[in-house]
Amino acid sequence: MTRGPTVQFLGAAGTVTGSAHLVRAGGHTVLLDCGLFQGLKELRLRNWREFPFDPAGIDAVVLSHAHVDHTGRLPLLIRQGFRGPVYCTAATRGLVEIMLPDAAHLQEEEAERANRRGYSKHHPALPLYTIGDAEAVMPLLAPRPYGTTFPVASGVHARFRRVGHILGAASIELELGGGSPVRVAFSGDLGRYQRPILRDPEPVPAADVLLCESTYGDRVHAAAADAEEDLARIVRDGAARGGAILVPAFALGRTQELLWLLQDLENAKRVPSLPVYVDSPLAIEVTDLYGRHPEDHDTEMRERMRDNGNDWHGKRVRLVHSPAESKALNRVRGPIVIISASGMATGGRILHHLTQRLPDPNTTVVLVGFQAAGTRGRALKEGAMALRIFGQQVPVRAAVESIDALSAHAGQDEILRWLDGFERPPRATYLVHGEPPAAQALERLVRARGWTVRAAQDGETVALTAEA
Ligand code: ZN
Repeated sequence: MTRGPTVQFLGAAGTVTGSAHLVRAGGHTVLLDCGLFQGLKELRLRNWREFPFDPAGIDAVVLSHAHVDHTGRLPLLIRQGFRGPVYCTAATRGLVEIMLPDAAHLQEEEAERANRRGYSKHHPALPLYTIGDAEAVMPLLAPRPYGTTFPVASGVHARFRRVGHILGAASIELELGGGSPVRVAFSGDLGRYQRPILRDPEPVPAADVLLCESTYGDRVHAAAADAEEDLARIVRDGAARGGAILVPAFALGRTQELLWLLQDLENAKRVPSLPVYVDSPLAIEVTDLYGRHPEDHDTEMRERMRDNGNDWHGKRVRLVHSPAESKALNRVRGPIVIISASGMATGGRILHHLTQRLPDPNTTVVLVGFQAAGTRGRALKEGAMALRIFGQQVPVRAAVESIDALSAHAGQDEILRWLDGFERPPRATYLVHGEPPAAQALERLVRARGWTVRAAQDGETVALTAEA
């Protein structure tokens, strides 16, 4: 172990969840992100382990953005003794206040279900954390603006820059003082260029050591214009079929982008005017928050806010608040659009709509995001003839369509474009937040540009130095 500054990769190394990188410098410790492990059981079990450091000994946490795989272990960090500030952008604070209690609620529901059905090895099964644990995070959240340097610990300064991934998402630069100052940059999750609502990713001019995400390091997304054309065709065909167009969508990010695109297509008369229902309490809260952070908005969003205020997403959008209103949608006939969570149809109100409407050949289901193996969304995508929902076999007679290009993550070409923003290559670049094939593909491309780069190994500690 070196005596100078170091970073230890404690999550999202060789995988895409559990983001957490521990920076030690001059006797101080700063944690970049504190994310939940998600997906395979082997990963999820890691959430139950104690942190491999003393949470009480950490000076501060700095968050890149509000997605739960970057923030979802904060309640555990506090339960194990952390009391310091959690620095983030203003919009990230707003989103964390919405997302963490929801994550806790899901954990409580899961424990309750395990107890009811008796499938837990533990009696009684306990949630990973409770809503009370999540609430304990809120007083520690310390918002800071983009583009200004602020102290996070003695001799350690940080700065946020926009990355266009979701509202509030930022890259983090750390300046470590001392004899030979070191600049460390962490990309967080990079977003897309020229997408609606959010400003483009901002370049970071210089860093000695870079931690860069590699989620889609092996893939280039289809052109956005193609995704829009696909959506237009699907909505026109769905309206002609005469039934509901059901869109399972993530409450944060995807729902807001879809609302924007639908409004755009309608304004351009590329799709007929249809009522659009947003049927997810979480998505409604997030959509409202999207309107309240002008510092994140691009020019078009600013114009739309100026002209339409809170109706930035279109006047035809109806927000469905109560479960009773949601059920009442079952009686609505004719072509309508229903956007509802969850994005992979693993839970949430979309299940009621699927149960009601999948057997109807006039229904269209549009899958707009990644569908993980084992989810109902994946089964639909692969042409399942029936889905099991609430213990029933529901026949699938609806038309099923999917659009792959609406990702909130930079594709390979977009990651490289962001890397082009550095005036000279960092001394060392470590790839995080990617499955091995994605990280390896990006590693080859970045090395071909003459950079010193490799994938971060789970648990390893590397030196942070200004010179080789
Ligand atoms: Zn993210």
